Amino acid sequence: MGIRENVKRIKERIEKACERAKRNPDEVFILAASKTRAPEEIRKAFEAGIKLFGENRVQEAREKIPLLSDIPIEWHMIGHLQKNKVKYAVNLFKVIESVDSKELADELEKRLSKIGKKLEVFIEVKLSPEETKHGCSPNEVEELARYVLELKHLDLKGLMTVPPYFEDVELVRPYFRRLRKIRDRLEDSLGMKIPHLSMGMSHDFEVAVEEGATIVRIGTAIFGPRNY
Ligand SMILES: *Cc1c(COP(=O)(O)O)cnc(C)c1O
Repeated sequence: MGIRENVKRIKERIEKACERAKRNPDEVFILAASKTRAPEEIRKAFEAGIKLFGENRVQEAREKIPLLSDIPIEWHMIGHLQKNKVKYAVNLFKVIESVDSKELADELEKRLSKIGKKLEVFIEVKLSPEETKHGCSPNEVEELARYVLELKHLDLKGLMTVPPYFEDVELVRPYFRRLRKIRDRLEDSLGMKIPHLSMGMSHDFEVAVEEGATIVRIGTAIFGPRNY
């Protein structure tokens, strides 16, 4: 199956999920998770109507993003961001979805103030204990959010999470629901809107949409299996 057909099917499935949840499908954006994909594949996905793309590694993004500068892609950083890569990341991305510490927020602020640029950021929340996962813990989110709001060059726009993988997607639902609740509580205590919930991948995006996702990050369902 080609990228164009895949995108069409995903859109249909999102629309159905929105119907079930009585949501407006215009509120849900597909972000193509393009790690390991060649620029030509990314171009095809863009031509199929995808505007948001996410990369996981700064080094790979530095190689690929300049080759696609002729098309108006909105690039998101969706992988763990190391402090020593921030100086590159601030020039490559429009949104950093993986802010998970004050130290990283400070480094972003420092580099952004140097170049006089503002970036949208999401806070990555870790909802399960795996060692391999990144993100701040649910009870640290509010403190980190308040910290980020003090930084002039960071614009807090959302929360992101990578829940554990379950064959049975119903088992992921509580994680998505939890992120939405954390967001709702945060909005109440901060007295402001945190519009984005970035959650859901190829395997479980319909459940994520039912639970309030505004950005679903989809790789294999668009591009096919990854060859590392
Ligand atoms: C790779 C990746 C995705 C997409 O995963 P698929 O299962 O291929 O859809 C989403 N989010 C993050 C953070 C990723 O690294």
